[in-house]
Amino acid sequence: MALIVQKFGGTSVGTTERIRNVARRVARWKAMGHDVVVVPSAMSGETNRLLGLAREVQSVPSPRELDVIASTGEQVTIALLAMAIQAEGLKSRSYTGAQVRVLTDSAFTKARILHIDEERLRRDLAQGIVPVVAGFQGIDESGNITTLGRGGSDTSAVALAAALKADECQIYTDVDGVYTTDPRIVPEARRLKTITFEEMLEMASLGSKVLQIRSVEFAGKYKVRLRVLSSFEDEGEGTLITFEEDEKMEQAVISGIAFSRDEAKVTVTGVPDRPGIAYAILGPVADANIDVDMIIQNAGTDQLTDFSFTVHRNEHAKAMEILQKVKTHIGARDIVGDNRICKVSMVGVGMRSHVGIASQMFRTLSEEGINIQMISTSEIKISVVIDEKYLELAVRVLHKAFGLEQA
Ligand code: ADP
Ligand code: ASP
Ligand code: MG
Repeated sequence: MALIVQKFGGTSVGTTERIRNVARRVARWKAMGHDVVVVPSAMSGETNRLLGLAREVQSVPSPRELDVIASTGEQVTIALLAMAIQAEGLKSRSYTGAQVRVLTDSAFTKARILHIDEERLRRDLAQGIVPVVAGFQGIDESGNITTLGRGGSDTSAVALAAALKADECQIYTDVDGVYTTDPRIVPEARRLKTITFEEMLEMASLGSKVLQIRSVEFAGKYKVRLRVLSSFEDEGEGTLITFEEDEKMEQAVISGIAFSRDEAKVTVTGVPDRPGIAYAILGPVADANIDVDMIIQNAGTDQLTDFSFTVHRNEHAKAMEILQKVKTHIGARDIVGDNRICKVSMVGVGMRSHVGIASQMFRTLSEEGINIQMISTSEIKISVVIDEKYLELAVRVLHKAFGLEQA
């Protein structure tokens, strides 16, 4: 007998019929003798709808109030799911984050889980009750409702699995596992039987939304056995996130391609090439709490340099505004923005022992006439910034060039 945490994403609980399907799946696991804790997201589209209502009323809504409204989506699905599980003849009870006490910090709309009181859930499990816990939400020290950032139900599930020392955390979604790239962009993409934790962390942080990055961080920290599966199929192993590289069955150099459209670039042109200039440019950006991703500085011959960096597209306008203000102070010629860029990244632990991956990537892109604007590398990934109009083409040709469709 095992203890399993099962998380169901928005599409998986998108209608009452699908909620009944989820309940049937839970009943099957119970019938096999397992203990199950269920974590649903809101019905698909619901969180967007709620946030849209907020923006109709206030152009920049208060983050505290946004969390109060956004968290209601999950309150609907926990109740419906508990009812559906009861209708299967089982005992079930729904809980909001506050009722369990999923304690978070007070960073509204992107709160971090600090602690979970798992006592109540354990008592339920001991009595054969299936607890249904709202994903995405928690409560801070002062009793304010918080949410964990978009896609945060994954993190709720993994954190609950860690707190309960569950045998496995299963993430049920609308694809049957983690693929070599988003199967919506490349239909030939192949499901991976396993992916290492490190690779999954890179894929998630570089834009693959199949798992929220914090859920992968949690799984790594607490060694939670994590699996991604389809909620629309009864059979299937999905994808297991492994901790040991030798557990990885496929020995490909590249495991996957991730991409992100949420990118924007700022270029500061004609600044004096002297010590302290990077700090003068990025200091005010950091002070405004804006995360900078890639950075490029070109030393010119005339003692002047161009300095470019990328930020999340949502923060582009703010970053541009900050630099316009310090333009004269730093002695820049101009501040130029571009929010039509994207980032494409290749990820694989096999890169550690293989050279030439970067050059093969650059050649493949050049053969399609795709200009690379920025490059960044680490031991297990290579990222390039390109014009967003080439995103799908780039992902498709790289997927083919690296033979990712083959097992
Ligand atoms: P849920 O609502 O279940 O949390 P998400 O939409 O958050 O589902 O995540 C599942 C989606 O992630 C898939 O429909 C797919 O389009 C996308 N995705 C992006 N990259 C990948 C990948 N490498 N493998 C599988 N799915 C991916
Ligand atoms: N419902 C939340 C969202 O749409 C959380 C989640 O789906 O994981 O972001
Ligand atoms: Mg998700």
